[in-house]
Amino acid sequence: MEWTGGCLCGTVRYRATADPIRAVHCHCAMCRRASGAAFLTHVHFPIADFVWTAGEPTRYRSSSQAERGFCARCGSTLTMHEAVLDDRVQVSLGSLDDPERVRADDHVWTLRQLSWVPVDDALPRFEKTSAAVPSRALDGDGS
Ligand SMILES: [Zn+2]
Ligand SMILES: [Zn+2]
Repeated sequence: MEWTGGCLCGTVRYRATADPIRAVHCHCAMCRRASGAAFLTHVHFPIADFVWTAGEPTRYRSSSQAERGFCARCGSTLTMHEAVLDDRVQVSLGSLDDPERVRADDHVWTLRQLSWVPVDDALPRFEKTSAAVPSRALDGDGS
């Protein structure tokens, strides 16, 4: 299954040739700040099946455990790279050409979820990181 996406201006483009490993809604303060949105949905693709087809994101080291990628021209939030999850590339849901195809697995960092963001799905919720992955991503206010 092929998945494509990129930034708002088109300078950075990518293609994945495997389905996502998982997709997660992160409500942490750092993802909120980095994306400008109420929460950020990360879609994880195996790094072996992922290529940049135009440009590459500029990386910002947001913590000792992670770097975040964005387009240096238009500023679109594009990627998350965690040291403990180096088998994958995490792209922001909104960068996909067809985000409708994504099925999210869970919510993480719900401790930081905005009180007025309604969540009426039946997905698992984790106050901090998910039991599904060994993420050590740090919440902006927590550490
Ligand atoms: Zn761009
Ligand atoms: Zn987060």
